[in-house]
Formats: sequence, structure tokens, C-alpha cells
Amino acid sequence: MDKIMQSRMDRGFMRHQKEYENKALEVLRSGWYILGKEVENFEKEFADYVGCRYSVGLASGLDALWLAFKVLGIGEGDEVIVQGNTYIASVMGITINGATPVFVEPDKYYQIDVDKIEEKITDKTKAILVVHLYGQAARMDKVVDLCKKFGLRLVEDCAQSHGAKFGDKMTGSFGDIGCFSFYPSKNLGAFGDAGAITCNDPELARLMKIYRNYGSEKRYHNMVVGANSRLDEMQAGLLRVKLKYINEINDERASIASKYAKGIDNTLVIKPEVADGSSCVWHQYVIRVPKYRDELMAYLADKNITTIIHYPIPPHLSEAYGYLGLKRGVLPITENYADEVLSLPIYCGMTDDEIDYVISAINNFKK
Ligand SMILES: *Cc1c(COP(=O)(O)O)cnc(C)c1O
Repeated sequence: MDKIMQSRMDRGFMRHQKEYENKALEVLRSGWYILGKEVENFEKEFADYVGCRYSVGLASGLDALWLAFKVLGIGEGDEVIVQGNTYIASVMGITINGATPVFVEPDKYYQIDVDKIEEKITDKTKAILVVHLYGQAARMDKVVDLCKKFGLRLVEDCAQSHGAKFGDKMTGSFGDIGCFSFYPSKNLGAFGDAGAITCNDPELARLMKIYRNYGSEKRYHNMVVGANSRLDEMQAGLLRVKLKYINEINDERASIASKYAKGIDNTLVIKPEVADGSSCVWHQYVIRVPKYRDELMAYLADKNITTIIHYPIPPHLSEAYGYLGLKRGVLPITENYADEVLSLPIYCGMTDDEIDYVISAINNFKK
């Protein structure tokens, strides 16, 4: 058995190779590379997919996040509630604008614990940033209620949840703004950096288009200090090809996850669960190993299976956020998860032999 990587992008590309290559040539030959018909069409198609009126293409998921808070006018002196166990980009999206993150512990599904949000709301709280971590939709009914009750903005970090639903609504369609990353390893991955936001408010969409292009709507008339965060024609064109297959991609990941769920049978391992009402697109298949996580990781590496920890250092304990003055112990569940989680290989084109090999290696791990 060849080495099994935790994620691989070549097989997904190969499955529709001809279509991607044709689209790449079409864009190259068009002579138009920034903000053209591919971006416009992708924005329409992606907004339709998510069930929103608007989508605006951007250069990355991080840009989607910080520009979301920017156009909502959230910054210095404001607080934004976010779960403790997330990728650091979620938190940077808040702090780049000068706002302060206020962390909430996750539930057993690794999503923000909706019962612990209200106690963190102060008169400075302006928004809740929900991260649909690992591809599972958070409990949006509760979050939406809280935002209504306290007059808060709702931003969703959907970088890992393209296509995941709560009830019959897509993640990215619940809040004021949905933030997406199309980093190559995401479920809807581009072939380079790319991102987008979704929203229903035409004014927010308009502002986002202004901010992504140096703060100008009309060339050389700069209204605000913006960014250069344009989705390019090549990525947009290739994303349009992939978007046609997103349901197929998510179904395939779900089928790998269900094989893991059926096959993995080791009392040292806690398998992931999906909450009632939520769906999961299995951006990651994350197990927890309370006692021997690092030993299992080394054991699997020895068997040529790569696993990854998402994420070993929670943002509040990272060097970057030392200035918040949060010490180990303030978010015990978050910190515990960081010590116990392990993401198994999952990617499009993963063969049954590869899946079975991973399952039996985990089942053979003894202590
Ligand atoms: C990948 C990711 C981001 C950042 O996206 P980039 O396109 O890499 O900037 C933000 N939040 C989460 C949860 C992510 O997984």
C-alpha cells in the first residue's frame, strides 16, 4: 500500500481533468484575467447554490472574514463571540479590524455550545461568528434566536461547510454574511487561493465589491481604504466546473465517513457524531483519543498513514493572541479537544482498499 495522505487534491482533479483543462485554456485565451464574466457567473451560481441573493468573490477565506466585519462596521471597542476551538483565521477575521474575540466552549459535536453563548454577551457585543467546524452545521435555530433577542449581527465561517445544512437551509444563508474559503483542500477547493461571501442585503454586497477593489466602485474614485482582494478569472472559472460536482463530492465524503463509522471499533477512540437537525459534509473526519492520541498518530505514521491535528494550539493560547492575556485553563473543553483530536485521511477518490487499511490499522492499535 502506498502512503495514505490525510488529504490529496490530485485525484479530485483527475476525475474531471479534461473539463478543468478546457476551462483553464478558455480563460487563458480570453485575454481577460481579473473581474470578468467567470467571476460574475460564479457569483450568481454560488449564490444560487447557497440560497442567497448575492455572492461576492474574494481572494481568500480570511479576507471574506475580515471584510465581513469591516462592512458591518465592527471594530475597535466591539466584542465578537466565537468558539474557542477554531482555525486561527476565524479569530484573525475579528481582530484585524481591532475588535475583541470572546471565546465560547464547544459542544460534543465540536460546534459552538449554544447554551453557553448568552452568559458571554455584554453591552459591547456586536456579533456572533459561528464556525461550522469540520463540515457540520452548528445549531443555527438557537444562534439566530439569540441574535434577534440581543440585536447582534450574525456572521458564519463556512470555510469547511460548503453544502452543509441546518434544517433545510444551507450554512452561509442564516446570517448577515456567510464567509467561504476555496483553499484547495476545502470541499469546494480552487487551484490556488480564493474565497467569497454570501449575503441577502444589496448594500452589503455593494460595499463588499467596493472594499475588494481598493475601495472604489468607479475607477480611480476611492471612497474608503479598501483591499486588493479580487477573485481572479482563472480560479472563478475552475470553481464553476467544480461547483457542478459539489454534491457528488460531499456524497463521496459522507460515504467514506460512514465506512469509518461502521468499521472503526476501538474502545480507545471516540468517533464523531452529527447533531439532530444538522448535516455534515465531512470536511474532516475527526476522532478523539483521550489517552493515547500522540501514540496513535505515531503508530499510524509507522503504517504509512498520515493524520493531522485540527488544531493543536487553540487560538487563545497562540503566541499571536498572547496580548489577550488568556491563560491555559480558561477554556478547559477547547484545550482538552486540542490534546485529543485527530483527523483521519479523507478525500475524493479515496479507494475502498485505502479506507479499509486505515480502519484495520486503527482497530489493531492496542495499549
Ligand atoms: C481555511 C479556513 C479559513 C481561511 O481560509 P483561507 O482561504 O485559507 O484564508 C477560515 N476559517 C476556517 C474555519 C478555515 O478552515
